[in-house]
Amino acid sequence: MELIDSHAHIDFPQFAEDREAMLDRARAAGVTTLLAIGTGPGPEKLDSAIPFVEQYDWIVATVGIHPHEAKEVKPAHLEELSRLAKHPKVIAWGEIGLDYFYDHSPREVQQKVFREQMALAEQAKLPIIIHCRDAWADCLDMLEQFWKPTGLGGILHCFSSTLEDARRGIEMGFLISFAGNSTYPKAQNLRDVARALPLEKLLIETDSPYLAPQPFRGKRNEPAYVAEVARTLASVRNLSPDEVAAATADNFRRLFRLPGRRFPRSSSLEFDAAQEEGHRAADGERDF
Ligand SMILES: [Zn+2]
Ligand SMILES: [Zn+2]
Repeated sequence: MELIDSHAHIDFPQFAEDREAMLDRARAAGVTTLLAIGTGPGPEKLDSAIPFVEQYDWIVATVGIHPHEAKEVKPAHLEELSRLAKHPKVIAWGEIGLDYFYDHSPREVQQKVFREQMALAEQAKLPIIIHCRDAWADCLDMLEQFWKPTGLGGILHCFSSTLEDARRGIEMGFLISFAGNSTYPKAQNLRDVARALPLEKLLIETDSPYLAPQPFRGKRNEPAYVAEVARTLASVRNLSPDEVAAATADNFRRLFRLPGRRFPRSSSLEFDAAQEEGHRAADGERDF
């Protein structure tokens, strides 16, 4: 099985004791590519995912500030994100969006920082990874207004809304990513959405260390368990887990214009503007 975990927080302290072993288990489970989300502990550490792309050829990264931390954002943080976004293995901006479930930052501030990061992601020509919880109407309205016109697309990560909202996202160029919560017995609504959407619009993720899939529920999640999400999607779509793994891997590569199978070892952090021009050539595949 060839799996792509489209969303994991591998820098988090939950992996402090066994991070290398955890990554080895992911490889052994068939994870060929992992998107390391770079939001880290917040604006005080904006390069949280960069060390992984420097060390591992199969890991790619994002940069961004999570809506939880929106209230801490200063202009200098946004400038630093734009600089980091030029790294050749930073392939997306996120996770950004709105979270009205926790409301860790005031909603107007979340919206402002969301808009600001969309503008910077557009300048960087990067797709965005959307975190949205209990805020779907506002989130999709903002995407329609500020993001759809860019044509850059992205991912609705850990999708938790209706089929109608998923279709709105797809119309704006988003892929819909399902996480471990789609495996829970009470989540039939999510499985119904996963069944109804076109296979070429689906992704799978773990959101490690959170949301461990059913067999490991309540424990720490890790990228190896993305296979469980593939199995769940396979069962609702009458496909084999291999077919779901292959299709979602293809979808991921198509969105990010990644080359066929594997990435050569990364160049160093010392990237420059010339490199940036090269790797963001308008069409064609990325070349690390
Ligand atoms: Zn999230
Ligand atoms: Zn996340």
